[in-house]
Amino acid sequence: MFKFGDATVTRIEEVYGPTYPMLQLFPEMTEEDFAKHGHWLAPHHYDAEQKLAKLSVHSWLLQIGGKKILIDCCCGNNKQKPGRPFWTDLNTPYLERLAAAGARPEEIDIVMCTHLHHDHVGWNTQQRDGKWVPTFPNARYVFSKPDVDYFSAIDADPKQGPAELGTFRECVVPILEYGKADLVSGGAHRLNDFIEIDSAPGHSPGHVVFKVESNGEKAVFIGDVWHHLMQVYRPEWNFPKNSDPEQARASRRKILDHCAASGALVCPGHVGLPFAGRIEKTQDGYKPDFPA
Ligand SMILES: [Zn+2]
Repeated sequence: MFKFGDATVTRIEEVYGPTYPMLQLFPEMTEEDFAKHGHWLAPHHYDAEQKLAKLSVHSWLLQIGGKKILIDCCCGNNKQKPGRPFWTDLNTPYLERLAAAGARPEEIDIVMCTHLHHDHVGWNTQQRDGKWVPTFPNARYVFSKPDVDYFSAIDADPKQGPAELGTFRECVVPILEYGKADLVSGGAHRLNDFIEIDSAPGHSPGHVVFKVESNGEKAVFIGDVWHHLMQVYRPEWNFPKNSDPEQARASRRKILDHCAASGALVCPGHVGLPFAGRIEKTQDGYKPDFPA
């Protein structure tokens, strides 16, 4: 568990392990990079034997001001993820882990998705009597409007849909139809006394980050602004699949600057152990302070 001010942040694990070949994610990576960073890459961020990147899929449970807030909702169980065998057909006790961390589904006040990719919306809904219904019945769901618009258009296009491996229809549309969603768009948006939503587009058109403050201490939930700590050293390296690669790089630099300047606790969506940390500015860039 992590703390800042009076707030606590608990990681709710779905899966954590080897995923894509490192050089498939980052073809720019050289032998020199492996030599320079090898001492911290393995074992938490890289499986050296299989040459695979180690990534986590998790939610963050933020408890602040008497509210229980769930940030990003992972892949979900029993879903097919073509090209991603490590995230396919999962059967994890995710909701039990969430309950063990102090939140049963009906206790969640707010669900916030940094963006609407399939690995961030999976537990938004559950199938009950053949219908997709909200998993968290008393929660408001905060979605980015530009993402809702973008994936709605893809989903409606027979040549491209269904969007996000069907998860847009199963995990986002039902929340909209039940009237449980609050859509936020563009720029900085204050959600409540503690939370500001800021746009960080590029990985998806409506990708947002959540900046949180408690008693003068800060945290920022960055979703997929970077997936792996190598991108802190190399902000120009994009993870594959971006709506706008150049915009993704610009957002990464903007958020790295914010993290370094604010000293915030940084909580990414997929970085390996210890999963959260801080960012330092260096003479020629940035470096992560994520002591395992
Ligand atoms: Zn993701």
